[in-house]
Amino acid sequence: MIKKNVNLRQYNTFGINVFADSFFELNQLEEINYLKEILKNYDKKIILGGGSNLLFCNNFNGLVIKNNLSGIEIINRNEGKVIVSAAAGESWDNLVTFCVENNFYGIENLTAIPGTVGAAPVQNIGAYGVELKDVFYSLEGFSFSKNSFLTFNISTTEFGYRTSVFKKLKNDFLITKVNLQLSRNKKFNLEYKSLKDALSQYNIYEIDLKLINKIIREIRNSKLPDYTSLGNAGSFFKNPEIDEITFNKLFRDYPDISFFKVENKYKISAGWLIEKCGFKGKKDGNVGCYEKQALVIVNYGNATGNEILNFSNKIKNAVYEKFNINLEPEVNIIQ
Ligand SMILES: Cc1cc2nc3c(=O)[nH]c(=O)nc-3n(C[C@H](O)[C@H](O)[C@H](O)COP(=O)(O)OP(=O)(O)OC[C@H]3O[C@@H](n4cnc5c(N)ncnc54)[C@H](O)[C@@H]3O)c2cc1C
Repeated sequence: MIKKNVNLRQYNTFGINVFADSFFELNQLEEINYLKEILKNYDKKIILGGGSNLLFCNNFNGLVIKNNLSGIEIINRNEGKVIVSAAAGESWDNLVTFCVENNFYGIENLTAIPGTVGAAPVQNIGAYGVELKDVFYSLEGFSFSKNSFLTFNISTTEFGYRTSVFKKLKNDFLITKVNLQLSRNKKFNLEYKSLKDALSQYNIYEIDLKLINKIIREIRNSKLPDYTSLGNAGSFFKNPEIDEITFNKLFRDYPDISFFKVENKYKISAGWLIEKCGFKGKKDGNVGCYEKQALVIVNYGNATGNEILNFSNKIKNAVYEKFNINLEPEVNIIQ
């Protein structure tokens, strides 16, 4: 059941050509017992979903655990709400389609985010004004250090902007199942500007889940590169948050700055900062910033993970020099 010397190129959306010393595919929950035993032979492990939020810098000298657990079911339904339970290895976008087809409201704005259900809580995925935390009910998983299955509900998840307790637990906690609470009553979140603009041509009675799903897919396809032909992991950096004093100073110098206010902080568009440093569409050997969105670093063919990391450091340094703002990667860097 353990494969040796496996090329990971097809298992990461950056398309980095690295090898895993050992590779295990988890297809059934019961196989965790076997997994526990074989892990005694490894110092290093990584849990892998769709590989759309990580950057392999080197060959991986340990065990890659590829999560293939599958299945979606409705576990509780009442008049207004429904709880949908999905195994962690399911494609996130398949889950969205399932909910759209069943008229379950809540995750349609998260259409077409690559990757698996199990990774969605790790960075609290978000798009078009919705985050996973908005619909999260509970999740189950296996703790290797505690040697037991654990359940987390919303009060123990520590969800924040692109973060959660699971990001901290790292590869010690394998998420096996995620339960979402969705609405059965018509309820949309249409505040996000580009979504609002795209829907403005429709009559309110024409707007339904299928239309939102279709429109978001179209917007995303027009803005983001297709990773099957141009390797990438979506946004490379998080949008930095700064305080009011720093913001006011910046705003004086750059009145066109792209930002939004979150409570008493200001979230600055990382894409705008990077673009202002001249990186949009810039190519550096095998690596570059996507021509339509500076926040997306792309692999033009045969880039190594370290080439991408070095390029990301150039961006980080340039933004720091120009704006005195520190960019943090959203992508998980695997050294
Ligand atoms: C074109 C593109 C667009 C994107 N757009 C968005 C977007 O709009 N919003 C957004 O939030 N993200 C976006 N992303 C990033 C990415 O799709 C999400 O972060 C996604 O949830 C990653 O899923 P994955 O299965 O590929 O995770 P992986 O990349 O395989 O893993 C990511 C992290 O989660 C851990 N992990 C994976 N599965 C499990 C598990 N079962 N248990 C415990 N830990 C686990 C891994 O160890 C790793 O640390 C985009 C990526 C791409 C390529």
